[in-house]
Amino acid sequence: MSETGFVGLGNMGRPMAANILRGGAKLVVNDRDPAAVAALVEEGAADAGGLAALCGRAETVFLSLPTPDVVLAVGREIAATPGVVKRVVDLSTTGPKVEMDLAAVLAEAGIALIDSPVSGGVAGARKGSLALMVAGPMPHFDAVEPMLQTLGKVIRVADEPGKAQVMKLINNICSAASLAITSEAMVMGAKAGLDADVMIEVLNASSGRTSASADKIPRFVLPRGFDFGFAIALSLKDIRLCLEEAERLGVQMLVGNAVRMLFSITQADLGPDADMTEIIRPIENWAGTEVRGGGARDAAA
Ligand code: NAD
Repeated sequence: MSETGFVGLGNMGRPMAANILRGGAKLVVNDRDPAAVAALVEEGAADAGGLAALCGRAETVFLSLPTPDVVLAVGREIAATPGVVKRVVDLSTTGPKVEMDLAAVLAEAGIALIDSPVSGGVAGARKGSLALMVAGPMPHFDAVEPMLQTLGKVIRVADEPGKAQVMKLINNICSAASLAITSEAMVMGAKAGLDADVMIEVLNASSGRTSASADKIPRFVLPRGFDFGFAIALSLKDIRLCLEEAERLGVQMLVGNAVRMLFSITQADLGPDADMTEIIRPIENWAGTEVRGGGARDAAA
């Protein structure tokens, strides 16, 4: 059986690589952080010992890397030493422009690109219940579909790499906007003296229900853990990429621009590694109140 490569074993990459491994693939891995590699080796993967060495062993190479620049740089390295690589599957969020640049760079080395950003967060990556939006040519899509299915629900969006990235940016602006408005609304309710747990119960039984009210706020804000696992810098990157693409297409995103401001302020206040669910903190500071669930209130008492 030929080996499968995986580069980028962070919050998302580590559990996704583990699921591909459990699905029966022979996995060879690489990350610039040796501790991230060691964790996967413990689960049964092989340490490539470097990207060029990985390319000498793997026909399919998955990427889960933080920023568009890093994705493109790693893509260029793969194209420079293609080894036995036939296709790259990019699970990162890069935006359509960089994804199309990546496809062109890889094509020069005879390598196909499957554009496959994911949604569902670290919890979805662990459970294998992500949404995968996929754009890439046949027969390469067919070759990787069984491995993608170990990560979650596979939805084929288009043939051309870049189109799945547009879909991902659309999803993420909706997710960020719903977190932003629900955070503002929860602070308003807290200031008015409403119980945070009751507010969430009402929203989830009503027309205000979103992924923020159903998941992010009750699980990561009300207990004050703020450990959803998506850094503010990365979510801001997604919003920026979305607004750039909307502008390129001549589409106005007034709400999207307001959401970007709130995320930028949070990053300036709390730093790039803050969790995206911490966007509620500046709103709480301005209002002079905190949104706490019953459990968190009891613990603080
Ligand atoms: P992360 O920062 O936790 O992980 C990135 C990993 O890449 C790290 O282990 C880092 O050491 C490694 N890395 C960086 N440069 C490298 C290089 N040149 N060579 C090899 N390894 C390198 O990021 P994450 O949260 O896992 O996100 C990864 C991608 O998935 C991003 O594009 C992000 O936008 C996207 N995403 C994240 C989430 C989420 O909830 N965290 C959800 C959906 C999509």
